[in-house]
Amino acid sequence: MFHKSTFLMLSLFTLLLAACAAPAAPVTEPPAAADEASTPAAAEEMGKIQVATTVSPIANIVANIGGDLIEVTGIVPEGTNSHTFEPAPSDALTIVAADLIIVNGLDLEEPTINLAEANKRDGVEIIFLGNNTVSPEEYVFDFSFPIEAGSPNPHLWMNPLYALRYAELTKDALSELDPANAETYAANYAAFEERINALDVAIQETINTIPEENRRLLTYHDSFAYFAPRYGLTVIGAIQPSDFSEPSAREVADLITQLREEEIPAIFGSEVFPSPVLDQIAADAGSIFIDTLSDDDLPGDPGAPNHSYFGMMVDNVVTMTRALGGDPSVIEGFDTSNVN
Ligand SMILES: [Zn+2]
Repeated sequence: MFHKSTFLMLSLFTLLLAACAAPAAPVTEPPAAADEASTPAAAEEMGKIQVATTVSPIANIVANIGGDLIEVTGIVPEGTNSHTFEPAPSDALTIVAADLIIVNGLDLEEPTINLAEANKRDGVEIIFLGNNTVSPEEYVFDFSFPIEAGSPNPHLWMNPLYALRYAELTKDALSELDPANAETYAANYAAFEERINALDVAIQETINTIPEENRRLLTYHDSFAYFAPRYGLTVIGAIQPSDFSEPSAREVADLITQLREEEIPAIFGSEVFPSPVLDQIAADAGSIFIDTLSDDDLPGDPGAPNHSYFGMMVDNVVTMTRALGGDPSVIEGFDTSNVN
């Protein structure tokens, strides 16, 4: 819950900050085109454009498009449950400093968006990537994101083509804010697009090596709803209840029955959601349990060549392909470094 008193406190906090800390001057209005001589691009005048965003894959996509011209701050720490994350009052500092705020939306980061709306400077835009990538008819609702609860599965970025749309929306927003560098953002986007298209092909070729009867995903956390249909995989279930608690004893029993009946070779979890019951479920059902799929945690340390959206997706595909009886070597040499 995000209480009114918290808002009030944060608003006061903002006023204090504005009064004494004098954060970077706002870059809310792009300079008029006719005024070039006297008004150099806002970004050049004041240093890098400050972009506040949320989960690490999105922060990485944004960084690939902005390159050296922007400084990206991801408010949701890596390896955290982004679905239940509550920002700290100190995250208001990031919001106050932001020239642009970019979120997934689709109800993934409501507390952070509330914080942003209460604390952002006048004229600073909040870009909702997910809501501008698919129409409501394309939303996926399922066990973990039931339609009765009203919030669709928000994991659009796990489909590389949707991630490309996220990049395009970022390019458009940065170009509007900083038109003097629009060509650079366009070039960065073009490089990102080329790599995404290569990734899309490599994923399909890798998934194609999985025996057809094994092209089924049973995951703990429900993050492959938009990925699976793109590549001919079927999500036969996700285990995590909609409130992110552990499955009930009844659900566990049903799951073991389902696993036995469908002869699923592996079930997948993620390090962000360690679940002791899953090892037992897999053992009872004769499957293996692998807990390294990721939707909001980049592999490697910051600065490592695989610490990227591409690295995360390649790791996921290698993990699921190996466990389901395919040949992960098809994608193992893929260039996972950032394009910018
Ligand atoms: Zn997730």
